[in-house]
Amino acid sequence: MDDRRIPAGIWHERELVDGRIEKVLAMVLRTRGCVWARKAGCLMCGYRNEALEEVSQEEILAQVENGLKELRGEEFVKIYTSGSFLDDSEISPETREKIFRRLGETCSHVLVETRPEFAMNAVGLTGIVPTLEIALGLETANDVVLARCVRKGAGVESYLGAMRELRKAKIKVRTYLLLKPPFLTEKEAIEDTLDSILAVAGYADVISINPVNVQRGTFLERMFLREEYRPPWFWSLFEVIKKAKAGVNTTIISHPSGAGKRRGIHNCRKCDDIAMDLLKKYNLTQKPEVLDLTCNCRSIWESQIEVETALRYSPYLSD
Ligand code: SF4
Ligand SMILES: [Zn+2]
Repeated sequence: MDDRRIPAGIWHERELVDGRIEKVLAMVLRTRGCVWARKAGCLMCGYRNEALEEVSQEEILAQVENGLKELRGEEFVKIYTSGSFLDDSEISPETREKIFRRLGETCSHVLVETRPEFAMNAVGLTGIVPTLEIALGLETANDVVLARCVRKGAGVESYLGAMRELRKAKIKVRTYLLLKPPFLTEKEAIEDTLDSILAVAGYADVISINPVNVQRGTFLERMFLREEYRPPWFWSLFEVIKKAKAGVNTTIISHPSGAGKRRGIHNCRKCDDIAMDLLKKYNLTQKPEVLDLTCNCRSIWESQIEVETALRYSPYLSD
């Protein structure tokens, strides 16, 4: 079948929602892609590889229809694009409404993702499905890190403002935070994500931590290939979750891509699979005590933190 009529990706997952484990169908639609990626793009984002220059609204509707053929009783559907579902230049308001009306026939909960400048287009979609959830890729609540290490092309306040308005409109808000953007040491990355969780906990219903996964064709990949960047350790993610859950009540989850591989979050070969299993268990229970991992590689992680911290000189990040 023509690529333009099938989603770029489709998968099934499970998620804890209001104390119940729900089955989820997720799909990534092929659209013309992120407006920011066409201008400059975030340093770690390879989504432009999945974008299509020419794709009609009718073809986008066909992708949704074909994606929904994979429904196995899921009532929670997540629809991603390689940009913003709510950007009119990717998906027109008419197409969005048609998609939501179609989803409303079978689904009770729909999540879509957007940049903050398009967030309020969500208001036109309220009332079509019982629960509407908007995901925003804030990445970090630190403006310097957001501008210099992520190159997001939007400031923290634009995200917080969008979150406030969405919540006022009774729309659920999910925030993605990026664990270890380029140019941060392991320790700085832990602190950055922890600080960001504390900063956004009051605005978000769900915080999802995305440990960096080195994607093809990105600025970050160039650093990685020159051995100037190592993706975060599971130890770091577990430390962030444990410390954060001691301070905030918000649901915090993490579904890393490329886990256990060189380009994704990893510890050592002996404990990567165990760490991932523990993380899956944690996601569905929200009990940080299940992240109880023992492995000799912890001492390597500790040494990395010690050495990097001792050698750190970072004029790049100071104002
Ligand atoms: S991370 Fe999001 S905002 Fe940044 S370039 Fe990729 S799709 Fe666009
Ligand atoms: Zn290990």
